Amino acid sequence: MKYCRFQQNSQTHYGLVESVAGREAIVRILLTSPEEAGGDMESLRTRRIEPIALDEATLLAPVRPSKIVCVGRNYREHAAELGNEVPTEPLLFFKPASSLLAPGGTILRPRIAERTDYEGELGIVIAKRCHRLPDDEDTRPYILGYTCVNDFTARDLQNKDGQWTRAKGFDTFYPVGPVVTESLDPWTGIQVETRVNGEVRQSGNTKDFIFSLGIVLRYISQIMTLEPGDLIATGTPKGVGPVVAGDVVEVAIDGVGVLRNPVADEA
Ligand code: MG
Repeated sequence: MKYCRFQQNSQTHYGLVESVAGREAIVRILLTSPEEAGGDMESLRTRRIEPIALDEATLLAPVRPSKIVCVGRNYREHAAELGNEVPTEPLLFFKPASSLLAPGGTILRPRIAERTDYEGELGIVIAKRCHRLPDDEDTRPYILGYTCVNDFTARDLQNKDGQWTRAKGFDTFYPVGPVVTESLDPWTGIQVETRVNGEVRQSGNTKDFIFSLGIVLRYISQIMTLEPGDLIATGTPKGVGPVVAGDVVEVAIDGVGVLRNPVADEA
């Protein structure tokens, strides 16, 4: 299944997305949220609506996570391009929920940042509570679906601060969407592409992860309990770079679609 979150008549809904006459459209409202379903998507109650074309809907970020856990340096060539060692265990950091941004929303460059970079990544949404997963347990049932994320970063502040909360945590620094879908298999390889003003800047494949999704989920679950709806960013491939006001960043993953966000300077 594929779903989004959207706004209609000043109300917010989760919507089921299907192809209608060759075009993606919201065809049902989810009356229970994917987080409430706790991984049992068959239990979701829905209500049919007059289809709304996805590209005409007022989309919101399709997630409401209790936490956003990010993996840094999960592609060898990206670690190298910033002059870092390849990590020997997953490198984790948080982004605040206040950094979430809707598809189409404007990323605001703070005045105190000199260099702001896109980081296109595959995002994972957690299906059900996940605590201290043993090595022999299959992690796939804990994954509700996949989405595009842009782990936007103030690179100069990241280098200056020594930890990353400020550099990664500004409002609007976490575009997510446009949909969440389960119909991908990152284990066999998903292409993650980032474009700036239509020009391809990053093109990575999840089969090149240093740490597979299974390792990442098990590792995080030893530290903290993951809740339904929590979001995990899996790391960015090589090709990160700065953007300025007026640029448009797109993160594209087959099956999820294109997450497109313009960039502007903070007023
Ligand atoms: Mg990142």
